[in-house]
Amino acid sequence: MINQISSKEAKLKRELVKVYSEVDEKAWDEEMWYCWSCGRGQPLSHSHACSRGQDKELMLDKDNIFLQCIDCHDAWENRVWKKIVKFRNLRDMLFYVLNHDDKQFWKLIEGINKYFENKKTDTFGN
Ligand SMILES: [Zn+2]
Repeated sequence: MINQISSKEAKLKRELVKVYSEVDEKAWDEEMWYCWSCGRGQPLSHSHACSRGQDKELMLDKDNIFLQCIDCHDAWENRVWKKIVKFRNLRDMLFYVLNHDDKQFWKLIEGINKYFENKKTDTFGN
């Protein structure tokens, strides 16, 4: 049983590496070898717009994979709204999430709205 799981994981890992290198190649060809969220350079990482645990189909979907610098990747994973609302490609990432997981999509919208509400309050407070 354990061997079965780990060989499954190994297979997924191999498939992921392949998909990542396809994404990288395309980014090179299209001169998009930079962070798609902030435009800065390396080091770049592969970020999933929509992550539903180990959902294989989502993990391996190239449209779900975005090149991000470590900073932006971290902000996305940890829902750092202050940074997320400035993503250049936020619309693309949200659009992907909308099409694949509306529950997650509405959570994101809620987080963004709350961020702007708090910001407004802050401004009035000053
Ligand atoms: Zn970035």
